[in-house]
Amino acid sequence: MISSHSRFYRYASPALQEELLSFTSRLRGMVTARGAMARTARAIERSQWLAPAQWQALQLESMRQLALHAGRRVPYYRELFAEYGIDPARWTSLDDLCEVPVLTKGEVIAAGERLLAEGGPWLRFKGSTSGTTGRAMSGWRDRRAIAFEQAFVQRQAHWAGYRHGERRAWLRGEPVVPARQSDGQLWRMNRADNMLMLSSYHLTPKNGAAYIEALERFDPVMIQAYPSSVSYLARWLEEHDRGYRGASLRGIVTSSETLSPADRQIIAGRFGCGVFDWYGAFERVAAIGTCEHGHYHVMEDYGCVEFEANGDGTANLIATGFGNRCMPFLRYRADDRVVLADPAFACPCGRSFRVVERVLGRVDDTIRTPDGRHVVMLDWIFSGLFGLVEAQVVQERLDEVCIRIVAGPDFGNRDEQALLLRARERLGEQVIIRIERVAQIARTRSGKFRQIVSRLSGSDESNV
Ligand SMILES: [Zn+2]
Repeated sequence: MISSHSRFYRYASPALQEELLSFTSRLRGMVTARGAMARTARAIERSQWLAPAQWQALQLESMRQLALHAGRRVPYYRELFAEYGIDPARWTSLDDLCEVPVLTKGEVIAAGERLLAEGGPWLRFKGSTSGTTGRAMSGWRDRRAIAFEQAFVQRQAHWAGYRHGERRAWLRGEPVVPARQSDGQLWRMNRADNMLMLSSYHLTPKNGAAYIEALERFDPVMIQAYPSSVSYLARWLEEHDRGYRGASLRGIVTSSETLSPADRQIIAGRFGCGVFDWYGAFERVAAIGTCEHGHYHVMEDYGCVEFEANGDGTANLIATGFGNRCMPFLRYRADDRVVLADPAFACPCGRSFRVVERVLGRVDDTIRTPDGRHVVMLDWIFSGLFGLVEAQVVQERLDEVCIRIVAGPDFGNRDEQALLLRARERLGEQVIIRIERVAQIARTRSGKFRQIVSRLSGSDESNV
């Protein structure tokens, strides 16, 4: 493994690290099914302009094809369809999909490889969620599924004004700069992708100027970032009463965390461009993107999304993605919720895809370190630890962090050591890290699970 998560990368020289980043990108490019990606890209360039009746017809046909494939090739669905007497060939409207019972995360974990399509393709990639909000879940994708996903991510980048090959900056949690490096060049250039990759783990008040100058010098057309990382820089600009001065920036694409309206406003104001927030689920069942007018559109050509209303203006997503035939999920209930918009709203961008007001996900604190860093998105330290039932990081003091874990029977000492090592890598040497095994992790008063809890003064406890 030569990715930025590897030990080899961590101890390489900055020049070699840049070569490794480019090499990894080229390798990824070779694995991607380019033909499939180009076909999807062409198709969805057109389908974004379809009228409701047309995209609904497209959804019905895509659902039928996917379900027929699942019924033939996927053991889980073969048995389910036999048990319920389901024949997708008979479906004549989207209402008929309700014949298929809703699929939950627990059912996916229990079904395991029975959800995998038989008969290939042989080249498949396994991903997994972290076990922080429940048990870890594995997902499999083939090259076509990856190409499908990338075509949609690329279309979102187009909406933000970016064209393939142009300069872009990346501030999204890859550990491109090792934790032990505290100053100097806190970014690496990925020449294969014409992309400046900046560390999300070295954002401190002291380093703010260097980050902004590096961005202005490179002058990207688009910045892809975690909301928490780019809003940190926007707040730094505000504190220093200045704006971003890069001339080429057309848009900032955020994803993977919840973007608050306040953060969106300050990012757009200080960077002087539109903020395009993207939602995609690990399970690859739904995608929601932001158009040029700032509205969240459900990507109706990506999958079929049903809103399960909660009665308070929010809705759960029950969704089927069309892209993954090697592990198809039909009517999967995703973890995230949306705030519904007025169904009669017609977006001035001209697309008829349904609009939601906001996407709600987790609302978390950040961990602060004695050297002034703000650490977010600790998901990676938990990924692939399958014995872990749940985990939460609690900060009581500036130099002490407690990782509370609910461990299943498979979680052994080696897993605990791996967790400790990864946390050390993220948080640095100055923080005391304790692991505490607990029977359960309490929810907030509103029933939410929080991955990070900070008890330091000045932390926002309003969402508890
Ligand atoms: Zn729009």
